[in-house]
Amino acid sequence: MEKIKMTTPLVEMDGDEMTRVIWQMIKDELICPFVDLKSEYYDLGLECRNKTNDQVTVDSAEATKKYGVAVKCATITPNAARMTEYKLKEMWKSPNGTIRAILDGTVFRAPILVKGVEPYVKNWVKPITIARHAYGDVYKGAEIKIPGPGRVELVYTAEDGTETRELVHDFESAGIVQGMHNLAPSIESFARSCFNFAIDTKQDLWFATKDTISKKYDHTFKDIFQEIYDNEYKAKFEELGLEYFYTLIDDAVARVIRSNGGYIWACKNYDGDVMSDMLATAYGSLSMMTSVLVSPKGVYEYEAAHGTVQRHYYKHLKGEETSTNSIATIFAWTGALRKRGELDQLPELSAFADKLEKACIDTVESGKMTKDLALITTLKDVTPLNTEGFIQAVRETLEASL
Ligand code: NAP
Ligand code: MG
Repeated sequence: MEKIKMTTPLVEMDGDEMTRVIWQMIKDELICPFVDLKSEYYDLGLECRNKTNDQVTVDSAEATKKYGVAVKCATITPNAARMTEYKLKEMWKSPNGTIRAILDGTVFRAPILVKGVEPYVKNWVKPITIARHAYGDVYKGAEIKIPGPGRVELVYTAEDGTETRELVHDFESAGIVQGMHNLAPSIESFARSCFNFAIDTKQDLWFATKDTISKKYDHTFKDIFQEIYDNEYKAKFEELGLEYFYTLIDDAVARVIRSNGGYIWACKNYDGDVMSDMLATAYGSLSMMTSVLVSPKGVYEYEAAHGTVQRHYYKHLKGEETSTNSIATIFAWTGALRKRGELDQLPELSAFADKLEKACIDTVESGKMTKDLALITTLKDVTPLNTEGFIQAVRETLEASL
């Protein structure tokens, strides 16, 4: 069989630990035998980040801007323990944070659904994609512990020195206070990323805040979304038969639980943090969550939502058998290949991505799966496989389908 040709390279961001091991297996067994892979390789493994003073992360993000599509392996975000483990020069920042700051994007997370791994909410027959705004609010908050009676005000000093004040509270006792902010350009990018992704994936977009209580802060989010929708996206949404729907956050959670899924739920930073963990758990497994960073300019970076699966890696290093689920990492590759196929008008490449995804799902639905799924599946006849065995089984399903 002739290999499928590519025209533009993918930006390939390698990573750490067990996911780095899986990364190579996926390339060797599931991609390179079928696709004449063109990629520009960046090693975001912690050793290389340390050696290059993290320049490699910045370079990989710049390359993503240039080519438009990246696929990323999970990476270690260093903490004190990693400083000694890897003899680091510095506690390098989270690569995802660095990349996001350069691409200015929004992260979309969606579960991969398979029969036999049932969501706790029975009516969720389609995936719910969460879009989390990744800037500001309580994550960039300023806080004071108020020791006793006194006045707290918000003060805005304009460049010409004029002051605007707003009373927060006249304290008569000890207490606490918090100040937080957001930026119009950041909310605008968030909105555009969400509208673009909805058009891209042909799904409705829901957005919710607490604008009835937060009449200036949350209301500004609502107004910015509405204005951008009306001026830039309404026509396209109507043409595709899609809906943009705004509601109160309380109403949204009730509707989400009653829904069948199949839409994008845009959330402010804190709501997205909490709700994405709730959804991941409710859909069954963290190892089945995909994640894609979409910039407002339409640049894409695909990855798995889970981390480097450190515990499995240490077993692997000791020569013990592992059963690590590679599906979300495979879907990062298929997401990137499909997008490359769309952008470069290579339908064969996009079709290959579809077939590889289907091979993963069919393999699991036939009862062959890694331990994490074997533990929670409702299927009766199950063969638990090890890390290599599962990838091999997917290859066999894929080859049969080609
Ligand atoms: P993790 O790698 O997501 O793993 C947590 C646990 O979830 C695992 O120990 C395993 O449970 C289960 N699990 C996750 N993915 C799995 C898979 N594919 N197959 C089977 N089981 C899976 O989170 P972590 O251990 O908290 O973090 C490890 C490292 O990852 C950290 O250094 C962190 O900085 C990094 N991280 C990176 C990213 C990213 O690059 N996007 C995201 C999160 C974390 P059992 O052990 O019970 O089998
Ligand atoms: Mg969280």
